[in-house]
Amino acid sequence: MQNCGVCDHHRSASDQFNYEIVRTTHWVFRHHPAPAPLLGWLLLDSRRHLSGPIDFQPDEAASWGKAMQIGSGLV
Ligand SMILES: [Zn+2]
Repeated sequence: MQNCGVCDHHRSASDQFNYEIVRTTHWVFRHHPAPAPLLGWLLLDSRRHLSGPIDFQPDEAASWGKAMQIGSGLV
């Protein structure tokens, strides 16, 4: 795997505790690192390295909608 800032971020224990909001089986919601472009800006990361939805396994694709629902409720 090439260097990946998202995967590096997930491996950093201090970042995990400072920014992580919700962790599910396949997804992590986290705060945007400061300075955030907008107040409340969230990021949704996959827990494993993915280049995008084309790489989703069936269980990841099936859980995507639930992750969107969880994220929409984080207000
Ligand atoms: Zn990655």
